[in-house]
Amino acid sequence: MAKFGANILITGANRGIGLAFVRYLAKENEVKRIFAGARNPQNAQDLQELEKLYPGKISSVQLDVQNDSSIESAYNHVKNVLKDEGLNLLINNAGILEWTGSSYENADRATFLRTFDVNTVSSVVVTKAFLPLLSKAVQKKERSVIVNISSGLASIKTTAGPYNRGGGIEPNVVYGMSKAAMNYFNRAFGVVEAKNGIISVAVAPGWIQTDMGGSNASLTVDESIPEILKTVGNLKIEDSGRFVDRFGQDVEY
Ligand code: NDP
Repeated sequence: MAKFGANILITGANRGIGLAFVRYLAKENEVKRIFAGARNPQNAQDLQELEKLYPGKISSVQLDVQNDSSIESAYNHVKNVLKDEGLNLLINNAGILEWTGSSYENADRATFLRTFDVNTVSSVVVTKAFLPLLSKAVQKKERSVIVNISSGLASIKTTAGPYNRGGGIEPNVVYGMSKAAMNYFNRAFGVVEAKNGIISVAVAPGWIQTDMGGSNASLTVDESIPEILKTVGNLKIEDSGRFVDRFGQDVEY
């Protein structure tokens, strides 16, 4: 049974977690095409190296998730390449975290708007834009999955709880709010779209060593991404709308 399907789009695929998704998914035989979204593909050296290793399987596509015309162009490009095929997996991975947004004392309007635009609004807009291709996969009785990369910091219940006490990452008001709001969308969309055959989940990947996570993070991409993909590969329609960790366990809202 297909775990991921043939055609995949990942946003923010030029570095960090997004790039690791490209690297791991490229190894899967069932995967035919990975559209690796990047704001500046011409500067994405690591991604270009990967493209060379998997010619025809990985292709970068210019995709600035904050820019509607970039999203439309990316959609038209993917649609033209896919012809009669659908999109089987969309990973809304692009995201930002600004340390000025850590505390409510310092969080200003501009930081809120920037962060919500990338982390929350863009996940909705990109999902809506690519919905026709995700629906096409359903029509063909294929897998159709959306993975919204969320965060443990989106869990309102545990905010200022284990993270503070455990000496790990501190709450970040702006970032946490943006991901909690994204989780709301995932829930609302996922429950409705499950009736149409689409699975949408929000996944907290763990604290990972990337530019965003920093070098003190507890996990490497190689420790987290295979676990996430195992979880994604096992998703069933009744999982749509859930907020899970990399192992597929529920994270408290
Ligand atoms: P990085 O900072 O390493 O990478 C962020 C990625 O998002 C980059 O590819 C960046 O592109 C892209 N991006 C940012 N803004 C845009 C935009 N407007 N359009 C397109 N791409 C954009 O972060 P991570 O890899 O660590 O994070 C990936 C996801 O995982 C994020 O959603 C993050 O919130 C989430 N996450 C990360 C955790 C961690 O510990 N690392 C923990 C929990 C969640 P560019 O190079 O052009 O800036």
